[in-house]
Order: sequence, then C-alpha cells, then structure tokens
Amino acid sequence: MKVNIIGAGVAGLSVGCYLQMNGFETTIFEKHDTCGGLCTSWQRNGFTFESGLQWLLGSGKSNPFFQLWSELINMDSVRFVHHEIRMEIEVKSSRDIHGGNVFHLYTNLARLENYMITIAPEDEIQIRKLIRVMRKIQSYEIPPMIKTVPGLLPWYKKMGYIRYLPLLMFLNRIKHETNFTFAGKLKNPFLKEAFKLLFDGDDLPLLIITMPLAFSDLKGTGYPIGGSAGFVGQLEQKYLALGGTARYRCDVDKIVVVNDRATGIKLKSGENIPADITISAADWHSTLFSALDGNYVNKTILQLKEQQILKVYYSVFMVSLGVNATFSDQPHFQRFPLDQPLVSPDETRYERMEAHINNYDPTLAPDGKTAISFSFYTKNAAFWINLRRTDYAAYHKNKERFAQIIIDCACQRFKGLKEQIEVVDVATPATFHRYTGNRNGSVQGWLPGKNIIAQSPVKSELPGLKGFYFIGHWTIPGGGLPVAIKSARDTAQVICNRYKVPFKITAD
Ligand SMILES: Cc1cc2nc3c(=O)[nH]c(=O)nc-3n(C[C@H](O)[C@H](O)[C@H](O)COP(=O)(O)OP(=O)(O)OC[C@H]3O[C@@H](n4cnc5c(N)ncnc54)[C@H](O)[C@@H]3O)c2cc1C
Repeated sequence: MKVNIIGAGVAGLSVGCYLQMNGFETTIFEKHDTCGGLCTSWQRNGFTFESGLQWLLGSGKSNPFFQLWSELINMDSVRFVHHEIRMEIEVKSSRDIHGGNVFHLYTNLARLENYMITIAPEDEIQIRKLIRVMRKIQSYEIPPMIKTVPGLLPWYKKMGYIRYLPLLMFLNRIKHETNFTFAGKLKNPFLKEAFKLLFDGDDLPLLIITMPLAFSDLKGTGYPIGGSAGFVGQLEQKYLALGGTARYRCDVDKIVVVNDRATGIKLKSGENIPADITISAADWHSTLFSALDGNYVNKTILQLKEQQILKVYYSVFMVSLGVNATFSDQPHFQRFPLDQPLVSPDETRYERMEAHINNYDPTLAPDGKTAISFSFYTKNAAFWINLRRTDYAAYHKNKERFAQIIIDCACQRFKGLKEQIEVVDVATPATFHRYTGNRNGSVQGWLPGKNIIAQSPVKSELPGLKGFYFIGHWTIPGGGLPVAIKSARDTAQVICNRYKVPFKITAD
C-alpha cells in the first residue's frame, strides 16, 4: 500500500515511521531542502540559532509522552536540561517584599509555593489553591489515553473511559480561569502584576502554564541538548532506517482527486506521484484551499477559515545574536519592561522584551560564547509576508531597521553587549511563512481559545473525501510537538484499522 506524505516536519516524519512499522510503503515530499519544519535551527559563523524547541513535553519518564517519543527516538541517548526556573518576569510598577522587581517562575512546585507565600503571605489561600490544581493534574493517570484513539475502541472499552470523568470534570471546572481572573483574586500588587504579565500582557487560560508546570515539576519538560537539529535528526534517521523515502525540494502543488478519492499528488515541477493514501502534514489552510481547491469543506471548516472559531497563533519577529560572552549570571529566559514602548513596522506595540539566553547548550556556540535571541510575537504577520512579496526593498529596510532598534534596546539592558556581538541573524514572520508554509507564519497552529479543553473542531478526515488524512500541529489548538506526534500516531492507527492491519510498534 503506497502512501504519499506532504511535509517532513515532526508530524510528517512521525506518521512515516509509524506506517513503515506497519508495512506501508511511504514517501515524504518536503518543499524545503531539509526536514524539521518549524522544529529547526540554522548555523551562522559557528553559532547555531534555535527555533522550534525550547521544551519538550515528555522529556522524562514521568510524562506519558515519553513513551511516544521513545517509540521513535532513543530517548536515553538524549541529554535533557531541566531548568530550575521556567521564566523570570521583571515587573514595572511594584516591588516584592525584598524590594526586588523580578518574579521567578520556579519549576519545582514546592519551591514555587514557598516562594510565592513568602513574597505574598496575604495571598496564601489563592497560592495554595493554584499549587493544588497542579498537584491534581499530576495525580491523574493519563498513559492509556495517550496511546488510544477513542473512535477505534469497542463500546465496552470506551466505558473504561468513565474513570477519566473526574479528570474531565476537574478540567472543566478550572478551564475558565485565566491569568487575569487569577490576578484579580490576588491582593499583593507584585504578584498581581507578575500574573498579568505571564503571557506578555495577554489574558489567556491559566491551564496553558499550569499544565506544563505540573509536568516540569516531575522533570517532564526538558530541553534536549543539541536542540531541534539533533532531535529531528534522530527522527529522520529512524524513518530512513525503517525503509521510508524522503524527497526534498519537492513542493506539492495539488492533491489529485478522482471520484472523491485522493489518488496521488502533483508537484510544482509537474511530476505526478500516485498513491493509495495521501497524508498532509503541512499547513491546514494551504492543504484545504490550495492543494484541494476548497472542494472538501463544511460549515465548520469555512468558519475556521474565517477564524470565527479559532484564531491563528502568533508569528514571531526574532533577532538572534552570536555573542562573545558567557552570560553566566543571566537567567535563560527573561521578560523585562522597555523604557519606551517599541512599535513594530507591523504596528504591534511592545512594552516588554523577551530574551532567550541559550548558554545551557554548549553545542550552540563556540567555547566562551553564547547564542541569544529576542522574540517579538505578532498577530500581524500578514504585513511582513505581503511586504516581502510586493516590495522586497521596503521589506528589507523595515526588517533591518526594526532589528537594529531591538539590538539597541538589548544593548541598553546587557552592558557591554554592543562590543561582544559577532553575528546577527533576523527572522521575520515572512521567514517562518516562506520556509514552512504555515498560515500567517504561525508558530503553533491555532491559538487556544478561552475554552481550552473543548474538542478540537479540526478533523483529520475531510467531508466527502476518501483516501486522505490531515495531521500536524493544526489539529489541536496550541499545537506544539506533542500534538504533532499524537496526531501522527492516531492517524496511523486509523489507517491500520481501515486496512485491517494490527497496529504495532517495531524497532528498525
Ligand atoms: C520559535 C518557536 C519556538 C517553539 N517552541 C516550542 C517548544 O518549546 N515546544 C513545543 O512543543 N513546540 C514549540 N514550537 C512549535 C513546534 O515547533 C511546532 O508546533 C511543530 O514543530 C509543528 O510540527 P508539524 O510537523 O505539525 O508542522 P511543521 O513544522 O510546520 O511542518 C510542516 C512541513 O511541511 C512542509 N510543507 C508545507 N507545505 C508543503 C508543500 N506544499 N509541499 C511540501 N512540503 C510542504 C514544510 O516545509 C514543513 O517542513 C515552537 C515553534 C517556534 C517557531
């Protein structure tokens, strides 16, 4: 049975591995000259700049996703860094009881609890409640749910899911709590301000941070030394060892459909490649509305297209620097207020700056040097994408000018930085869009809405179309690597079930 897979991101490589394990003959078509998609890094004069992997859900055995990654990657060979502090947030208007202005988001829950109660004793009840939520998340048993596709289970096994009802009811109860509503319950001005700034000033479900923090406490969200390149490299090797074929520089133009069945793909070069099954692990919008010409839609899909149900996640303007310094006294991830608000050419206004100091991974820079990056998230990626398309000179000028302003702000913050910079690299939303095809340069598919645990409206099969499946980070709001592998594994199980192949996991 021949399978064409569009896209060699984490989802495409994962589904390729699972299907090869089960006797399918797969070929991955990737438009770029390398694999990884958003989960990538690039090298400039001895420095490696990292993009899509700051933390991996499932880095440790305590987290159920570890079992999934272990099916495809030799997890024992990967060294993970588990940061003691997830993020340091410098607040502007208030001070903690010691006169300090930096909030430390510790990954150890006991430490976080003690720290918050020490700086805000008047909020002890709320703080303990918050920590209890995370402890409760830790207490639920999740593994069987990770490995099964509910739709494939016989009714009597589905009945077994009743034991997860308390978890669902619990999540349902807390899903509406946002960082703003929680901050509203706090009395301490410093803690209140810190929680309001948890998502860089946005009001989002608190579960976005409490869920990973619950797993960070159990050492389940580490950063793999070697970053994206090392991690994805292992995935690609596994796929090739299983007998899969990867074809790079192959931009898929159309999914060929005959009598409402996908029968293959047509590349932009004009080449036709027939297959029994087609899987898109690429961008949701271009797959449905360009490769399939919008022929297989329903009301929900059209509402998604118009962003009426979900909004597209942010893209990012990222300035990376190769610096001749170790930054040993600096936190790895910090957010701090700017003296003057900064307005991007795309009109997004920034009151704060976010710095990632990657000195914990020696593979990213020569000895004594560090790769650092500054990320500016934007919902107006269309500005950069359109400008690059219509007026490259203006695009280039805006990009360079904004990057220089960011570098100047960084130099004010980090004394001596100006003289230490050896390499400058700038990626705009147009860069992310061009390299991966993701709509609006989105870095994680859809933005999770207020109803974060609602069932995803994005389905892997399309109405009226046979022989076609969609996977990847657009299938569940919030995206990320866990969604990429889970959607790939689930779909491989669905395909095996359809062709009466017992789903199995094998070594090479
Ligand atoms: C700066 C940044 C930081 C991040 N940090 C984290 C993190 O810490 N943890 C985490 O879990 N996630 C993180 N993410 C998100 C994560 O990297 C992505 O959600 C994930 O990599 C998506 O994988 P995917 O395979 O679904 O899609 P993609 O990576 O988008 O892969 C799609 C692939 O399809 C290819 N393609 C598209 N169109 C075509 C076509 N027509 N023909 C052929 N090929 C095509 C693309 O080139 C691409 O290779 C981050 C992302 C960014 C950008």
